[in-house]
Amino acid sequence: MEKPLLFLPGPVALADDVSAASARPMIDHRGPLFAHVFANIVDGLRPIFGTTSDVLPFGSSGTGAMEAAVANCFSPGETVLACPVGIFGQRLIAIAKAHGLRVDVLDTPLGSAVDPNALASRLHADRDRVISGVLLTHNETSTGVQNDLARLAPMLREHGALTVVDSVSGLGAGEFRMDDWGYDVVVSASQKALAAPPGVAMAAVSERAWQRIEHARAPRFYFDLRMAREYARKGQTAWTPPIATFRALECALARYHEEGMRNVWRRHERNAVVIRARFVTLGFTILSQPDAHSVTVVAAVPPTGVDATTLVQRLRDECGVILSGGQGELAGKIVRMGTMGAIDDGDIATAFDAIKSITHGGA
Ligand code: PLP
Repeated sequence: MEKPLLFLPGPVALADDVSAASARPMIDHRGPLFAHVFANIVDGLRPIFGTTSDVLPFGSSGTGAMEAAVANCFSPGETVLACPVGIFGQRLIAIAKAHGLRVDVLDTPLGSAVDPNALASRLHADRDRVISGVLLTHNETSTGVQNDLARLAPMLREHGALTVVDSVSGLGAGEFRMDDWGYDVVVSASQKALAAPPGVAMAAVSERAWQRIEHARAPRFYFDLRMAREYARKGQTAWTPPIATFRALECALARYHEEGMRNVWRRHERNAVVIRARFVTLGFTILSQPDAHSVTVVAAVPPTGVDATTLVQRLRDECGVILSGGQGELAGKIVRMGTMGAIDDGDIATAFDAIKSITHGGA
């Protein structure tokens, strides 16, 4: 098959005009045309983050933006509360430790979202306000779990810790109201629900976070958000950006707003519902708890007798259908299917015909 059916939870299949935008002639990243592209991207992103604060796009994958958030907001020795619900939450912990922070962890069972009561009691117990930051994953790609950030917001605001949110695989696929909910630094990346190629990460930064950023002492250079803000005022990035990806992202955001935010949210929700239902029909079990389903990625445990790794390999080799396997402790135990990007009902049907033919033949 010439064009594989890409159902990864990122990078995602691109619309043709988004691909074409990345193939346009190179331009000067310090010139007016790039400044125009930059401005369009920032304008396109602000309503998606739900903020009127600074939104800073820069060249990096999502992990760089996670590191930028931690390195800019905190100082070595400070305590943060991490709330991991999978591998990417663990990554935030690793980054925090690498920057010399003390990390207190709120554990959550696999497949569940952060329990609001558990978070509330942990925050209430912190009477001396030792916890200066809380690290959250909006959408955990390794387990197909989404946290209810609207629900968690009031208790976080009441405590007052600075909040860092990894929304790499969540932003754009559902409502996000950073300002109303009161989150401080929210990071994302181009290759997920925004449906552009990988290479551009973005950080949205609240006023309150800027005050912290001025005084934070964790080492930073490439990802110094103060530098990013200074250059953003000129419509530039601090360092040479991936111009082709910026242009593709500009096009992807134009498409996003043409479709309309609510329609984009509905599309992801609908794809997720259909994909979960089709997996269940074929005897798979959905890993995420019913109140914690992600709208961007479905993690499914194959029925007995079907090996997840073999299934992913055969789908790729024999059918040109690209799914992901599990990561970390879930390696070999689950398959993961994304709902994002330029996929339609026909593509989903084709993918499930392939999954059915393999699982019925015995993977
Ligand atoms: N956070 C989440 C929730 C992700 O899904 C990913 C990537 O899949 C990342 C962070 C890391 O992003 P990247 O691979 O672009 O560095």
